[in-house]
Amino acid sequence: MKKIYLKLRKIFTPTVLAICGLLMLLSLFAGNLVFYAFGSDDSGYAITPVLIILLLAIIGIVLCLWLRRRIVRNDPVMGRFAAERISLKPGGTVKGQRKFGFMTMRWLIMLISFFALIYGVKWLGQGFGNIELPIFACPINQDQLIDSSCYTLAHLNSLVGMSWSEIGIFLGSLLLSIVVLGRFICGFLCPMGLIQDLTHETRQGLKIEGLSFNEKLYSRLKPIKWTLLLLFLGLSFVGGNFCNICPAITVSPALAGFKVSLFLSGFFMIVVIIGSFFKRRFFCNICPLGYLIGLGHRISLFRIKKDCQACTECGACYEACPMGIKTIYTEREKRDVTTADCIMCGECIDKCPENKALAMSFGGLRFYKASRKTFMSGHKKNEKRLKRLIRKREKNESN
Ligand code: SF4
Ligand code: SF4
Repeated sequence: MKKIYLKLRKIFTPTVLAICGLLMLLSLFAGNLVFYAFGSDDSGYAITPVLIILLLAIIGIVLCLWLRRRIVRNDPVMGRFAAERISLKPGGTVKGQRKFGFMTMRWLIMLISFFALIYGVKWLGQGFGNIELPIFACPINQDQLIDSSCYTLAHLNSLVGMSWSEIGIFLGSLLLSIVVLGRFICGFLCPMGLIQDLTHETRQGLKIEGLSFNEKLYSRLKPIKWTLLLLFLGLSFVGGNFCNICPAITVSPALAGFKVSLFLSGFFMIVVIIGSFFKRRFFCNICPLGYLIGLGHRISLFRIKKDCQACTECGACYEACPMGIKTIYTEREKRDVTTADCIMCGECIDKCPENKALAMSFGGLRFYKASRKTFMSGHKKNEKRLKRLIRKREKNESN
């Protein structure tokens, strides 16, 4: 059994799995394209060329790479600037430490959640007599016999016409989601998260260097986050509809076979795919729904804990964090280092070399802790890669 497992692990490396995932997505897109071309359903706005989004995103990525190469070649200052960004910062290309464990579980949960949120809720709803389950799935996917907190939040003006019991269910389910799950939703359950992680893994597989945001850039994202949050909650009061610009609309409803408007949301999806190819979890850094859930992090049961005595201030956690959360590394007193931006991805714990220096807990129970043993087991694998990156950096610096 162990031999078969080891063989399978050799074949199904994260890169192979990521490419398989992208191919699956591609075939789903292609299937939907046929549906749109020959299907008889007129419920959507327009023919939805989702495949075109993917192709345009790939063209965009190639263009960005070409531009970057030109800039680096023609401008030595920019070249050095780009070289400094090679991979040893958050969102870089240093691979994970553990081969099987928490991260594999995360991938499995993300995959199951992706298909459940897009295709599964229909069956679940029918099984329960077509009841409405108020969760964060996109209700424009009409297969889902549910109402959605996300949709109601983007149409807060509709609360006026609702009964008190409906308002109670909406607020209650929203609060329950924040308390029980919090931004665990972003790290484990959101379909946009899976797509972003797949594009990130594909880049790593192709050995293309990513971009890392520095502290200044992260702080500049704050006004963008707030603006998007205000648009998300307030657009419906001035006759607008946030769903028309939401990139996620091209994922859930479109993959389930429903025609959707792709003018602005399609454009933003292209931006998200290109952005997340170069910068890990690019969209999560500005997602208004994620930020809104994050604002309630103080009452959430999922938490990141730190043992400041065990921490040796190596900074590996900060380097690994896709959200650029510096307090996880700089905190020297508090035991609780959960912030509004933390998506509970566990990358910081995965890369931390000190026993129990970082841990993830649910309701006080620490279920995932940093461990030196597992860190060292992944170290050899990374050693060659790091050496290659450092050589490349030195070469760039000497030019
Ligand atoms: S702090 Fe840790 S768990 Fe939170 S987003 Fe950063 S890497 Fe993920
Ligand atoms: S990775 Fe662990 S030991 Fe290193 S700074 Fe972060 S918490 Fe401290």
